[in-house]
Amino acid sequence: MIKKVISDYPSDFYRGKKVFVRVDFNVPINNELRTIREDYRIRRAIPTIDFLIDAGAKVILGSHLGRPKGNVNKDLSLEIVSKRLSELIDKKVFFCDDFSTEGWIKKVNKLNEGSIVLLENLRFYNEETDNDEKFCKLLSSFADIYVNEAFGTSHRAHASTYGMALNFKHKLAGFLVNKELKFISEMLTKADKPFVVIIGGSKIKDKISAMAKLLDKADKIIIAGGAAYTFIKAIGGQIGNSIYEPEMLDWAKDVYFKNSDKILLPVDHLVSEGIEKTNSCLVVDEQIPDGYQAFDIGPKTIDLFNSVIKGPGCIFWNGPMGVFEVEKYFSGTLHIARALALATWRGANSVVGGGETIAALRKAEVLESEISHMSTGGGALLEYIGGSNLPGIEILD
Ligand code: ADP
Ligand code: MG
Repeated sequence: MIKKVISDYPSDFYRGKKVFVRVDFNVPINNELRTIREDYRIRRAIPTIDFLIDAGAKVILGSHLGRPKGNVNKDLSLEIVSKRLSELIDKKVFFCDDFSTEGWIKKVNKLNEGSIVLLENLRFYNEETDNDEKFCKLLSSFADIYVNEAFGTSHRAHASTYGMALNFKHKLAGFLVNKELKFISEMLTKADKPFVVIIGGSKIKDKISAMAKLLDKADKIIIAGGAAYTFIKAIGGQIGNSIYEPEMLDWAKDVYFKNSDKILLPVDHLVSEGIEKTNSCLVVDEQIPDGYQAFDIGPKTIDLFNSVIKGPGCIFWNGPMGVFEVEKYFSGTLHIARALALATWRGANSVVGGGETIAALRKAEVLESEISHMSTGGGALLEYIGGSNLPGIEILD
């Protein structure tokens, strides 16, 4: 699947034109301190932004942050991101929080060549996730050219990732999207064995359809973190108060028993009565007592997973092994991050993706050079390696 990239056109092509770039600035934020915990996704979009500015384009950036579900939520405002971006590129970034008004359209039209505006969180509007036709028209009325630089959101057919793009003559891939597609497809073509997939984190519902497809491809699938407990409960384990998806239990049971030779689940857990309870932390094997919740994998599980994450071969990882943000529950994720780095040194091709997973890798002090490819996508990455078509990619020229 070869897509047109922004550099396929000479810079003259962009001079004075308004370019809408769908970026993925969905970065982890520390809400108490009001700081950005990890800005990898912002930094990765900069080559595309630089290219367009240098070419004299008027750049309009659109993104989402978190899941505001159609409501204005100050904690999920992109204003903090616009400040960080401005620091990184050493240039003023206009921030716009009322882009649906007529007045704003006039402002966009008055932008100078080489200037940038970042729109407020697009998911403050339900019309974004609904792929609403009017909203698509409004967004596309801002610009002459559409660029997708949001690999991590390309599996969604939303207004800014899909619907609005239909209204453009030119729909191009940014440098990051191009790089992601190239690297991951090359790796899939080679498909070095063993093919290991590690899935953790909390957004299991999002990851489930991809998981189903990956079962055919993978030699081993590790399911841990918050994603594990739906499976453990489904096959009759006791999970106490651990997080799970009630409506996915039957599905999980069926999948597990059809693929029990491939799926690895945690065999022990670090549990406590609540995330804030420091003195009630203990390690339990299989059965988690009532009133306790699992927040990390235990030492036996770390050994078990390490025995699979050895290299060579190819390894994909999305989703932390536990609530790594809290020091006490960081151990599982730390060990897996180190195992992956070691496997890469032993010749494995490794891809790590997902907002929180990248933040965890950073916390584990694993270097970017110790992973073959750090992807900006989590769910999108899993969908893509599972063989699904990503709407935000399909739509491009
Ligand atoms: P990514 O952003 O890398 O795709 P997710 O968004 O799916 O990953 O999940 C990340 C979150 O999952 C982390 O914030 C982490 O605290 C949480 N998590 C991991 N394990 C558990 C668990 N056992 N219980 C609850 N939450 C968990
Ligand atoms: Mg996440």
